[in-house]
Amino acid sequence: MQKMRLVKDGIFPITKDENGNLFNKKLNTGFDISGTIQGEGVLAGIPVLFIRTAGCNLRCIWTLPNGKASACDTPYSSFNVHESTNVSVTKIVNTIKNNLGNIKHVVISGGEPMLQKNALIELCTELKNQLGVHITIETNGTIFIKELADIVNLFSISPKLSNSNPNIEKLEELNLLSQSDFIETHTKNRINTEALQNFINLRKSNNRLSLQFKFVVALADDENEIHDLLMSLNGLKNEDIILMQAGADIAELRQSDKAILQMAIKNGWRYTPRLHIELFGKTENV
Ligand code: SF4
Repeated sequence: MQKMRLVKDGIFPITKDENGNLFNKKLNTGFDISGTIQGEGVLAGIPVLFIRTAGCNLRCIWTLPNGKASACDTPYSSFNVHESTNVSVTKIVNTIKNNLGNIKHVVISGGEPMLQKNALIELCTELKNQLGVHITIETNGTIFIKELADIVNLFSISPKLSNSNPNIEKLEELNLLSQSDFIETHTKNRINTEALQNFINLRKSNNRLSLQFKFVVALADDENEIHDLLMSLNGLKNEDIILMQAGADIAELRQSDKAILQMAIKNGWRYTPRLHIELFGKTENV
């Protein structure tokens, strides 16, 4: 059995361990039941359990409309993963099983889950075969794994625009200069057109599979960049394109609300709220 590298408490929100024993701790949701809702995208509001993998090949830092830098909203899975643990696929599946209740959806997020190809294929296969759940993988779209095509139900792909590029000024502002090695790799790798097209092609040959392209947007210029990227891809529909505000807390989200709503309406794209931030604030594992 493969092991997956997860962040600390990377299966959430849960009340029971892999043997069905109750934990003696409070959940960050404030609830006494397992589960939360998907906060973003076409499935926003659906009850889910999350699995959060550790490690990311990118280091997103956006510039907000007020000029301030805003980093990845899950830095503990990308910038700083020192509390990660390797968990066997068996333990993950058993833990999910004991916490599922009436929940039908499992979301595998990161970090970047696609970095762990073999373990991810095994995890998705076991989740599907043993539990029959709907599986969403949230990915930055830089890595394509064709073996997942017949297992995963929704690829939630979030290609990163140039506004996410880290630079020395942003790293200095956020006290993250230790990450300066990533300036070049993020900028060079954040868009992989071939991988993105492969995801789209998968859907053409498999109508059970859904995908969404979820863009984190902060500035008006982002609109032209989305159009440029869409021009280089084949087979996306307007309703596949989802705009989401940059920001890690409510005050940051509010800065770009109206501009993004207008951008969505003008282009026939979809706007998504970020319900988990609205409902739970800037809190991990909700
Ligand atoms: S790709 Fe996602 S997880 Fe990785 S740094 Fe960017 S926002 Fe964070």
